[in-house]
Amino acid sequence: MKKRSWAEPWKIKMVEPLRMTSRQTRERALAEAGYNTFLLRSEDVYIDLLTDSGTSAMSDRQWAALMLGDEAYAGSRNYYDLEQAMRDVYGYSEFIPTHQGRGAEYLLSQLMIEPGQFVPGNMYFTTTRYHQELAGGRFVDVIVDEAHDPSSTFPFKGNVCLNKLQGLIDEHGAGKIAYLSLETNVNMAGGQPCSMKNIKATCDLCHQHGIPVFLDATRCVENAWFIKDREPGWADRAIAEIVREICACTDGCTMSGKKDSLVNIGGFLAVNETKLAEEARNLLVCHEGLHTYGGMAGRDMAAMAIGIRESIEEDHIRSRVGQVRYLGQRLQHAGVPIVQPIGGHGIYLDAAAFLDHLPREEFPAQALAAALYLDSGLRTMERGAVSAGRDAEGNNIFPRLELVRLTIPRRVYTQAHMDVTAESVMEVWDRRREVVGLRMTHEPVRLRFFQAMFSPTVGGTVLPAESSPESAVEC
Ligand SMILES: *Cc1c(COP(=O)(O)O)cnc(C)c1O
Repeated sequence: MKKRSWAEPWKIKMVEPLRMTSRQTRERALAEAGYNTFLLRSEDVYIDLLTDSGTSAMSDRQWAALMLGDEAYAGSRNYYDLEQAMRDVYGYSEFIPTHQGRGAEYLLSQLMIEPGQFVPGNMYFTTTRYHQELAGGRFVDVIVDEAHDPSSTFPFKGNVCLNKLQGLIDEHGAGKIAYLSLETNVNMAGGQPCSMKNIKATCDLCHQHGIPVFLDATRCVENAWFIKDREPGWADRAIAEIVREICACTDGCTMSGKKDSLVNIGGFLAVNETKLAEEARNLLVCHEGLHTYGGMAGRDMAAMAIGIRESIEEDHIRSRVGQVRYLGQRLQHAGVPIVQPIGGHGIYLDAAAFLDHLPREEFPAQALAAALYLDSGLRTMERGAVSAGRDAEGNNIFPRLELVRLTIPRRVYTQAHMDVTAESVMEVWDRRREVVGLRMTHEPVRLRFFQAMFSPTVGGTVLPAESSPESAVEC
């Protein structure tokens, strides 16, 4: 085959100007934000890799669909289109729209979990675990050990460890397990996929014991790409078929449309059981809105119906994962410690290895995210101890993974943006010994990473200004 790069199957029709900032401006903005990149103003950011959630670029077809929004309170045409798109692509029979993924997580957790029950999952996700715990559930991590080792090159680090799952069933009995929460392309592990073989074996084991399986389908399409790319026997299958096959093993899913589905807002709960769907719709009208819009405007549903169909186009998903790989390979070549193998939606810097002079109590990942912003206006996100929060006894949880996530929005940035990103990470890598740790000065009770504030442990900055002032960009 001829060698061709991952280039995009689209061209740019409209641009959004970005503001370039000075070190001085960034210094001030970062201090005001309490060294938390979530609290920065977007206008102070140059390249925004905080998240790929709701930050993707819509296609001209999606923008055109906004004009066809049917804003009826009840029975909007766009609802039926969206329901049809979900059924065609994911294959579940019952569709419950929500404003975004956590709306669906709330409904599922409230309806499926009895207080004291366990909810095993292949690593936790922040909002997912929050809603499970809010409903009285106890999350248990049953992901394979490789997932907790940033340097392991195991190709399916999202896999469920069947022994851990069997052990939980043996210890507590299937009746104490509400359901298995199965995430595809596991976000907190670095965007790491599950193999089809493991998905099937996991679902079989659960179903033998009468335990339902609910998929977190947020990045199911990206997972399907890795199955096609890495798992023997799947290379000739269409992404659409693989997605359907994953979903067919499970009893339903929660979905954040803000990721795979290429929209700025939206989500859904989908199930096969009619009774559960009816209960979910009833709870939905109390919290999100009527069951034919669930927190979305008609135009949002119109855009999502198209986005879902675009998300499974082979050329789209190839270039999406290809761009992430391009950035990752540049960093790998420079010797920067990143989570291996390169994941589907972002690059995860191993902050514990990157800043090995900082103790975990000084939040190295939070400090690294702050230092990257100071260096270039690049915004990234902490995924380590700050995100993990505290345990039931109130102690800080120090997960093995202390990461900084560089998340790539879909169809937004160019290869030159990826180059600048890599250059900035390499610059901070060269100066890593100068990076100062942080202490937390404000700690919210719930999902603290969103709003926590910090200050540098010494010297008033996380990365001293360079002795030679910022020079003109070299071409
Ligand atoms: C983003 C995300 C969610 C939550 O979805 P929101 O739309 O942000 O509420 C749940 N699970 C995973 C894996 C996610 O990445």
